[in-house]
Amino acid sequence: MKQAPDLGRPAGLTSRRRAETLESVKSSRGSPDWLRARSGPLSTRDMCRALERIAAHLRSSREGSSAELALEKVARRRDPFHVLVACIISLRTKDEVTDTVAPRLLERAPTPDQLVRLDEEEIARLIYPAGFYRTKARSLREISRRLLKEFQGQVPSEIGTLLTLPGVGRKTANLVVSLGHGAPGICVDTHVHRFSNRIGYASTREPDETELVLRSRLPGRWWTPINELIVSFGRQLCTPVSPHCSCCPVRSICLRVGVTRSR
Ligand code: SF4
Repeated sequence: MKQAPDLGRPAGLTSRRRAETLESVKSSRGSPDWLRARSGPLSTRDMCRALERIAAHLRSSREGSSAELALEKVARRRDPFHVLVACIISLRTKDEVTDTVAPRLLERAPTPDQLVRLDEEEIARLIYPAGFYRTKARSLREISRRLLKEFQGQVPSEIGTLLTLPGVGRKTANLVVSLGHGAPGICVDTHVHRFSNRIGYASTREPDETELVLRSRLPGRWWTPINELIVSFGRQLCTPVSPHCSCCPVRSICLRVGVTRSR
């Protein structure tokens, strides 16, 4: 993840494309054709079997390891404001950096009230070297101001409302809903989007579309865990270039759509 993020919209989506996608979101509710066109041939039963195998594989590979994703640590606190802040910092930023700078900022300013009292320079200094730290400092301060002014200092739990906050895209909104509020949410990032298409469960061009397919087809019990599972799996085995198919636990299920080179 090296490109500059437009923190107001998902990476890769132009305003027009986003508008079309969101239009699809609305129309898809009553449109089986939209869903049929963007669903892959893999059955939900096989998708769930694949996710169960991946979960078992990750459990065994993590045994004896203290490795933990930066967001997981913050998520354990179940504080929506902390999840929101950590998610924004984590965009276009390595996990190790988020792991260091998010706790540093949250220790100094654990609530919107305390964060809004810091000036942008100080926030930027606290979250440096996160990617686009100056832009994020501005967004974090403005978010805190809006939370205080419009939401009594609370982080909203509806995706639509969260999307109105500066720097919040669907990925962040879904993480806040699921990890912060403990409500169902599907966070589709580049790993979940790639995996869902490769295995043959979705046939989509954009993560937003994949999210809709998953919302429509995938049983609720997988909505929250799928992101954590597939981010780890995508880093270990189902890598963007030349995935490790020969030792993949779901090789017998996966349709390997678009995979031309593998190890
Ligand atoms: S078989 Fe290959 S493409 Fe399919 S999930 Fe496994 S690593 Fe990814």
